[in-house]
Amino acid sequence: MSKSIPIFPDSEADLTPETKCGFCANSKCCTYITQSIDTPRSKADFDLLLWQVSHENISLYQDSDGWFLLIDNPCAHLQPDGGCGIYDDRPQICRDYSNDFCEYDAPATEGFKRYFEDYESLLAYCKKRFKRWGR
Ligand code: SF4
Ligand code: SF4
Repeated sequence: MSKSIPIFPDSEADLTPETKCGFCANSKCCTYITQSIDTPRSKADFDLLLWQVSHENISLYQDSDGWFLLIDNPCAHLQPDGGCGIYDDRPQICRDYSNDFCEYDAPATEGFKRYFEDYESLLAYCKKRFKRWGR
């Protein structure tokens, strides 16, 4: 379990790059992974994605960098206090992640052009996108 109670600094000045993660309610950046995928174009492409988003905690989005699967699953190394259990040995992608403007500041969904959180939402899009959807 990660931290669940939001913590806010007494003043803006207390919020620095060094202290910010300590104030973060749920260490959101450690609770999912994303996987880049080829831009879906055909009915077959979307049919496959419908299968993928039918699985729990799998969603799909498009942002300015392209299309991605979003797998909501916390990292096994995330500690109850929100810290990293392998901090000194954490993977490079974790080291490279900047907290300059992250999910403490705004939900990532704000940067999404399209977001399909489940089968129903993607199916509705498919039916709009393809005049004849179905078999
Ligand atoms: S980088 Fe941002 S989302 Fe991640 S733990 Fe720090 S403040 Fe929270
Ligand atoms: S390895 Fe540590 S920093 Fe990286 S995602 Fe897991 S808990 Fe977060």
